[in-house]
Amino acid sequence: MNKVNLTDLDVAEMENLLLCMGEKPFRGRQICQWVLQKGVKEFNQMSNISKDLRQKLQQATKLGGLNILARQQSDDGNTIKYLFEFPDGEAVESVLMKHSYGRSACVSTQVGCRMGCRFCASTLEGMVRNLTAGEIYDQVLGIQHDTGERVSHVVLMGSGEPLDNYHNTIKFIKNITAPYGLQISVRHITLSTCGIVPGIKQLAQEKMQITLAVSLHAPNDQLRDQIMPINRKYPLGQLIPACKQYAEHTGRRVTFEYSLMRGVNDREDHAVELGELLRGMLCHVNLIPVNPVKEREYDRTSREQIDKFKKVLEQSRVNATVRKEMGADIDAACGQLRRKTMKN
Ligand code: SAH
Repeated sequence: MNKVNLTDLDVAEMENLLLCMGEKPFRGRQICQWVLQKGVKEFNQMSNISKDLRQKLQQATKLGGLNILARQQSDDGNTIKYLFEFPDGEAVESVLMKHSYGRSACVSTQVGCRMGCRFCASTLEGMVRNLTAGEIYDQVLGIQHDTGERVSHVVLMGSGEPLDNYHNTIKFIKNITAPYGLQISVRHITLSTCGIVPGIKQLAQEKMQITLAVSLHAPNDQLRDQIMPINRKYPLGQLIPACKQYAEHTGRRVTFEYSLMRGVNDREDHAVELGELLRGMLCHVNLIPVNPVKEREYDRTSREQIDKFKKVLEQSRVNATVRKEMGADIDAACGQLRRKTMKN
């Protein structure tokens, strides 16, 4: 029998499970707190639950607990990259970043990815499977267990496309922000998408105050078609209005990620075009030097050129920052650690 992973359940489902076991529903909330808030690894740690019920739970359910297959720490100690293994032997990467404002966990939503972005290592071998809400949650708990520190921010920027695994991603966000969960502030959650327009529209309807980050990487369809195949399905003429709609509906500024690749998308005329595309919109551009991936041919833009690019954008009154890079010494580019480890 396949046992239920308890981090996969929300409080209503947990209450239901407890009812089915002949218990009072309030036990469901208590157990959610043990599982999602305290992150217990053993059933016998649930001290306000009778021994009898703990045994029944143990027979029917399991506690996620991921295995750390690999762990790399940057020289300055501020970035730790994990390769977490699930019980079925699949593995994903997660990253902890220590900032002055808190601890940020970057988590994966799928094993592999089917979006095919040309510069990304996660997608090289396609998608293996979606992660469940609990498997996304378990990455955050795994990081907290390992470091002994509270995670205050979550970015959905690991492997996979969160809006291609919509239901599980939303369930994860609801659980991790819930009063019976880790109570991470909704405003401290960032969901990054390659631009799945129907998903962005649906997300706007959820009325959650999360930050939407959109991986743009090109200022026109011709170039974006080449480096991000999803653009052929949802071109900029659909994507940008959906982002505007998101900003209007939620009142939240949209972040555009723009990874600079030398000679590909980093010229000043690209910056002018990007400025025109985004002018007047409630948004922010994150400029990121591309992380060269062994299997891909892209090189990074010089710091000087990045600063020029930023200035041009600012002339169009588009806000931009150059993303602080962390963990370049530990294969922090998406998918690199998994590829290296699984091949060995
Ligand atoms: N599928 C989602 C989230 C995962 S990728 C998305 O596309 O947004 C997280 C971010 O890293 C995206 O902006 C992605 O385009 C970027 N990225 C992937 N590979 C990269 C690389 N080699 N260098 C720089 N950024 C990269």
